[in-house]
Amino acid sequence: MNAVNKVLIVGGGIGGLCATIALRRKGIEVDLVELKAEWTVYGVGIIQQSNVVREMAKLGVLDGYLDAAFAFEDVTINTTAGQQLARIPGQRLAGPEYPANVGISRLALHQVLSETAIALGASVRLGLSVETLTEEGEGVDVLFTDGSRGRYDLVVGADGLFSKVRGLLFGDKYQPRFTGQSVWRYNFPRAAEIDHLANFQGPAGNAGLVPLADDLMYMFVTSHEPGNPWMDTASLAAEMRQRLSGFSGLIGELREQITDSSQVVYKPLEVVFVSEPWYRGRVLLIGDAAHATTPHLGQGAGMAIEDAVVLGEELTAGGSVEQQLERFMARRYERCKFISDSSVLAGDKEIAHDHSFDRIGLVKQMLARTAEPV
Ligand SMILES: Cc1cc2nc3c(=O)[nH]c(=O)nc-3n(C[C@H](O)[C@H](O)[C@H](O)COP(=O)(O)OP(=O)(O)OC[C@H]3O[C@@H](n4cnc5c(N)ncnc54)[C@H](O)[C@@H]3O)c2cc1C
Repeated sequence: MNAVNKVLIVGGGIGGLCATIALRRKGIEVDLVELKAEWTVYGVGIIQQSNVVREMAKLGVLDGYLDAAFAFEDVTINTTAGQQLARIPGQRLAGPEYPANVGISRLALHQVLSETAIALGASVRLGLSVETLTEEGEGVDVLFTDGSRGRYDLVVGADGLFSKVRGLLFGDKYQPRFTGQSVWRYNFPRAAEIDHLANFQGPAGNAGLVPLADDLMYMFVTSHEPGNPWMDTASLAAEMRQRLSGFSGLIGELREQITDSSQVVYKPLEVVFVSEPWYRGRVLLIGDAAHATTPHLGQGAGMAIEDAVVLGEELTAGGSVEQQLERFMARRYERCKFISDSSVLAGDKEIAHDHSFDRIGLVKQMLARTAEPV
């Protein structure tokens, strides 16, 4: 008999949904609560690299996921003017018949994951969170924000950067930190040559083009924003064009088409890393709640998804809850720390205008590390 048969997952984002799928596939009963009453996600895309495609196969969602995604192989790194500096070949980690990497809209990803979680029999309640968690005997008594109660063998906090569960475990010890940079994103019809992830090294930040569908791609650019200034939403298009002023080539051409401020998605970058075991007793943090980093290596969600798969494996591999969570940490801590630290480092080097920084080398190192078994 498993030590863990009934789990509460707090947060229905990428990590919480993947954990729900992973646990349901192992026969564990799952209740999921999500704070948002309208269970939607904002509509920009996301890069998912070869290690993520491999984990999606383990979760048994690969076919539906690939149907909703734009599959691609290589990653290029280019100069400000678009001249290619490196082409890094993709790694087909899910098997030779599956693509190396994908770009997918966050909405499409959410639909695939949420429909699968519900079809697998998870109980999902929206507009709800946890109020208190009290460990008592061999379980956790949960008081929900609507006054209802439940008892679980394990509670998983997958509630993101501003995790309430993290606060319940560690008080205010871990607070999100603004890194000094922000990201600007904008959707375009896909240019024919953007059939892969194209990065462009800018004078003060990096831009990129990510294919999402046959007719859709998005652009991102990072910028240094000392003091995290308030942005007037009406002027976001002009502000984004200004952040792209050093670019020529394709990025320069597209820059002039950024005219609709309502379509600019602006995001200051905040990070947090929990440096001790991500659990206390029978309450565990996964995903951004434990290790939110910057998007410089495109691996934040990748790490949340890997957390979910490993959790499903360890909870059904025998031993006590303590032993299971120890094994989970042994497989996750250093890998997530490497991604968190390396992503923040890449941003710091942009802020410092350190053009001697070997970004290509770091991307190759990340790809080699994430290709290793989880
Ligand atoms: C600009 C930007 C670009 C990025 N691009 C990429 C990329 O290309 N590739 C990649 O792999 N990663 C990327 N990331 C990182 C990625 O978005 C995150 O790592 C990922 O979303 C983490 O998933 P999560 O489920 O842990 O948290 P979230 O996605 O934040 O989900 C948390 C969920 O919990 C819910 N919630 C919050 N509080 C509570 C509460 N108290 N009770 C109940 N529910 C609650 C939220 O509503 C949400 O649904 C990017 C991040 C940023 C900021």
